[in-house]
Amino acid sequence: MSDDLLKKVISHSKEYGFVFPSSEIYDGLSAAYDYGQLGSELKNNIKQYWWTAMVRMHENIVGIDSSIFMHPTTWKASGHVDAFNDPLIDNKDSKKRYRADVLIEDYVAKIEAKITKDVVKAAKRFGDAFDEAQFRSTNGRIVERQAQIDDILRRFKEAMDTEDLPAVKTLIEDLQIADPDSGSRNWTDVRQFNLMFKTELGAVSGDSGIIYLRPETAQGIFVNYLNVQKSGRMKLPFGIAQIGKAFRNEIIARQFIFRMREFEQMEMQFFVKPGTQEEWYEYWKQARLKWHQALGFGDGKHRFHDHIKLAHYAEAAADIEFDFPMGFKELEGIHSRTDFDLRQHEEHSGRKLRYFDPETQESYVPFVVETSIGLDRMFLATLSAAYAEETLEDGSQRTVLNIPAPLAPVKAAVLPLIKKDGLPEKAREILTMLQMDHNVQYDEKDAIGRRYRRQDAIGTPLCITVDHDTLTDQAVTIRDRDTMQQERVAIADLVARVNEKVGMTQLFAAS
Ligand code: ATP
Repeated sequence: MSDDLLKKVISHSKEYGFVFPSSEIYDGLSAAYDYGQLGSELKNNIKQYWWTAMVRMHENIVGIDSSIFMHPTTWKASGHVDAFNDPLIDNKDSKKRYRADVLIEDYVAKIEAKITKDVVKAAKRFGDAFDEAQFRSTNGRIVERQAQIDDILRRFKEAMDTEDLPAVKTLIEDLQIADPDSGSRNWTDVRQFNLMFKTELGAVSGDSGIIYLRPETAQGIFVNYLNVQKSGRMKLPFGIAQIGKAFRNEIIARQFIFRMREFEQMEMQFFVKPGTQEEWYEYWKQARLKWHQALGFGDGKHRFHDHIKLAHYAEAAADIEFDFPMGFKELEGIHSRTDFDLRQHEEHSGRKLRYFDPETQESYVPFVVETSIGLDRMFLATLSAAYAEETLEDGSQRTVLNIPAPLAPVKAAVLPLIKKDGLPEKAREILTMLQMDHNVQYDEKDAIGRRYRRQDAIGTPLCITVDHDTLTDQAVTIRDRDTMQQERVAIADLVARVNEKVGMTQLFAAS
């Protein structure tokens, strides 16, 4: 059913010009997509909603646009050169590629499942008198299985800590782990796979010319911390926001635009006084959830997932997950990043990246709370929540995109009832009146009912029809996408009516 929804969203996106497979005439490039004429409008509107909420509505947040290429030492300092890796293994028979750590974790999870089964059985048998901890520490079979898990994890950790990749392969062989797809145990060696894309800088050859495509936009903010703080005379707490492309050579990229190798992030680093990070972390978790909820996708579409396993830089981390067609998945991350990044950049650059606190007369490295959302994932969330197939009262069907009106790619369509008698001219006059403020469309082809359906299918909130009476009463009929109700409105009131329906202000009133 849900798989079905994803398929429908993908084909609808292509049919109506939201998203196309990249370089399709050459059979496409895996996990790369192009945004079409309506997709780029929707994407721009999502960006605008985010930028308004983060930058315009906060006096103490400013936005920047840093370059994708950065000095290579940036990525040494941030830990990405050494640690942004996945251990990779190929199966020689199936030619499938896997992450070695995932194969081992899955194996351990299977043993854990067996233990849990025994515990659940025993709990049932012993009832209230059941002491789980005691059972786990004394039951022979469980003790043995737990020892096996501990041994596997110890060997894996030791191998990873010492970068001993042959030992990781030996572990996979000792455990007789088979390719989940083909059952084959014919594995290649394990190698470390860095997720950063590398390229070379023009005139320089060799290692010194290596340059990376940024795997996150955040580092462009960290390296500009002092520039912005000084030039903007910013006082703590303050934030720097940025929207831009990021690149990750994901081993497995799939599920349409959910996981791509080239994608766009909207990130904000909030610099705070050390000791206050916990309270700001909570603040941003709630603020970001509100931003999502204001779009009205419905209760229960979002949830928090707190991280137990933290990235090397993080003190606390939570995801806002969205109920995508393939289940709840990460849409946005909120991370308490401590002073890790600024300190690392201080060390590697030899420059001080401090804040002089005029109140306490002290200098210190600020702590950082980050909010990081994938624009493409937000796009997919919006489309999959908006897609609906409806049966109307008269028994006919319509496919409609219930995109929140302020995000809709086309805000209004202006439709002359027929192609003559001066109606097209009048309709174009109205178009001109609206197009300065909104993306509006003119359509005179086919019967009016079919034109309404076409606009429903691309999520246009309003259709404005010009008929013969318009020429005398200076009024038009407005049809609402959601209620399909029609209403006569004076042309003189039209701009205000359209603004009220599609303006972004309503999203802020709701939050
Ligand atoms: P995941 O666990 O899904 O790989 P992540 O935890 O590595 O994601 P972050 O590094 O926290 O992701 O990046 C912040 C946001 O960027 C994510 O919440 C997600 O929306 C987006 N993002 C990350 N990787 C991709 C990708 N390959 N394609 C599209 N969006 C992505």
